[in-house]
Amino acid sequence: MTYPLLVIDPQKIEHNTGQIAALLAKEGLRLVGVAKGAAGHQDVVKAMIKGGAAAIGDSRIANLARIRQWGYRGETVLLRAPGLTRCADAVTYADSSLNSEIVTVRRLGESAVKMGQKHKVILMVDLGDLREGVPLGQAPGLAGEMAQVPGIHLAGIGTNLACYGGVIPTGEAMELLLQVKEKVERRLGRRLERVSGGTSANLKMVLEQKMPPGITELRIGEGILLGKESVYREPIPGCCDDAFLLRAEVIEVQKKPSRPTGEIGQDAFGNVPHFKDRGIRKRALLAAGRQDVDPGGLIPLTPGIEILGASSDHLICDVEEAVFPVRTGTILEFRLTYSALLRASVSPYVAKKVL
Ligand SMILES: *Cc1c(COP(=O)(O)O)cnc(C)c1O
Repeated sequence: MTYPLLVIDPQKIEHNTGQIAALLAKEGLRLVGVAKGAAGHQDVVKAMIKGGAAAIGDSRIANLARIRQWGYRGETVLLRAPGLTRCADAVTYADSSLNSEIVTVRRLGESAVKMGQKHKVILMVDLGDLREGVPLGQAPGLAGEMAQVPGIHLAGIGTNLACYGGVIPTGEAMELLLQVKEKVERRLGRRLERVSGGTSANLKMVLEQKMPPGITELRIGEGILLGKESVYREPIPGCCDDAFLLRAEVIEVQKKPSRPTGEIGQDAFGNVPHFKDRGIRKRALLAAGRQDVDPGGLIPLTPGIEILGASSDHLICDVEEAVFPVRTGTILEFRLTYSALLRASVSPYVAKKVL
């Protein structure tokens, strides 16, 4: 076995998908399963499909292309607007995409016409989080333009909150989105079939039954992968939080002072570190660093272990109070936050093992 090792339990992912699909179905919502947190790993995507995801979404065309290559013929959604250079690939690998620029939609349309296809577009509206999307007032006019592009079917509108600005999705925000939908429908003279209301950040409101009728789908990654909603990181009832675990190997155990010796300047990443003096403590060095994981997103499964820091290749832990003796060669296990999972999933240095 090579370490660091990301251990993936597809049964837990399938279970979580089923729980969330059922939760959404009760509120009249379709589940778009989002696998980007696991880099579109084949077994993760398959588990989402088995668990009841109605479509698979990813922000990367490369991941959607691989999903198609395994033979998945179901619906795919491209979550990040394609660059102008990638529109042909977007049409090839995604049935629909989230967009906010007319130039991009025109380019998508040209590609779709060449391929004899219709590409579905969800127009993204910014409700204040300040990542993708057009201001509310611009949506109807832009929707009118997009709907006229040959090769394009404007299927609906959508929004994304809690990603850049940390803006919490609320019932009021969803109502605003539905008002925009009505204005767009009046402009187009027809109904829109899709209103894509958000992400795992919306799961708390779904649980509290605060989702207004009319929103048709949510795009859920973290909820399925880690069993948590993503505003307060509260567990979703009935979901597992350990579908992924990271194992890393101890390469040194030494008793050392808890404060470095000498004058302190910047560390390897330009930060000036601060240290509490706790006397001489037993420390373990693990062969896992910032190239492998986000060290701040690792949660030790062994009680009594504390992560002190990390450099590119080393994770430094205080193991003085570990409940079992930590030695060179010991394998330690960690749960992961979204950020740690994302990094471990994309790192070529982290081996993956599917249970
Ligand atoms: C990543 C992403 C999602 C999924 O977000 P989670 O918080 O993992 O549920 C949904 N929509 C868009 C546009 C995304 O980029």
